[in-house]
Amino acid sequence: MSDILLETRDLVKHYPVRKGVMQRTIGYVRAIDGVSFTIERGKTLSLVGESGAGKTTTASAILLLEQLTSGSIFFEDRDIYKLSNAELKNEYRPKVQSVQQNPWSSMNPRMRVRDIIAEPLVINAKLNKEDIRNRVLALMEQVGLMPEWADRYPHEFSGGQRQRIAVARSLALNPDLIVLDEPVSALDVSIRAQIMNLLKDIQDEYNLSYLVIAHDLATVRFMSHSVAIMYLGQIVEYADSEELFKNPMHPYTRALISASSISGPDEKDESIVLSGEMPSPINPPSGCRFHTRCIAAFDKCSVEVPEPRVFGTHYATCHLCDYEEGWITKSESKSV
Ligand code: SF4
Repeated sequence: MSDILLETRDLVKHYPVRKGVMQRTIGYVRAIDGVSFTIERGKTLSLVGESGAGKTTTASAILLLEQLTSGSIFFEDRDIYKLSNAELKNEYRPKVQSVQQNPWSSMNPRMRVRDIIAEPLVINAKLNKEDIRNRVLALMEQVGLMPEWADRYPHEFSGGQRQRIAVARSLALNPDLIVLDEPVSALDVSIRAQIMNLLKDIQDEYNLSYLVIAHDLATVRFMSHSVAIMYLGQIVEYADSEELFKNPMHPYTRALISASSISGPDEKDESIVLSGEMPSPINPPSGCRFHTRCIAAFDKCSVEVPEPRVFGTHYATCHLCDYEEGWITKSESKSV
């Protein structure tokens, strides 16, 4: 069996911008533009970037909540857009689950916890009531919730406990992949480590894969095996997590790491502040899309789209990345 569980190839999602009574299309929001990556079995890939980078659109496409403009998604070597409705329902959707940032928004406050966790089993699994009851109690124990709390309502739990309920529900159908959308960012800092440790323990036990959507680099560093940095709908850098934090290549990655106070590769205490707003995805900047905010930008950057420079499993799309010379060359002299 291949180690690759899911692969995206050149995902593109453009939303038409319409205007006037006739609703004429006057442009396109380029939410994602050529996003390709793989997720291995039992491993975690994080998509990182500011709001508007395309992380959520990418995750929504994998969860079949968005119809792509073009591109392919392969799950266990099968193109999911070529699966029948029955195959999607029985073989793909149960295997790909999600946990949202704010469990409140995905829980009916009038449902008891046992029914919230049981929902996917009632809809998808052919189990009798007794089996569902036993499965729910086992899932509660698995995520550190007392089975005797099964008849309580969501408001009777803390934020961390509600996230445990959401994790239990996402595990109900024995998925292979869980999309974790900012899984701990709504929680108190003191609770975050508990939930992250829980997720890692569950991953180890079931050989689960995670796709983490996050902007908090401390979470990303703790959770991930590999990381894709996204900017304005594209992946600008991709590497194993350890390698990325040790040796970030792209000026945008370096700025993000610096802004998050995680020490950079050279351990210098130089703060890089991201200047300016993210440009509009309707009219992305020419050449390198980051050039309007990049402190290392030079003439070529606004004219030529940088090709990905690949070194092993690490790649970055920047004119300054030159592996023959030891990756970033000119930028080092500019203290990027
Ligand atoms: Fe900055 Fe130019 Fe590299 Fe883009 S290509 S990240 S603008 S140096």
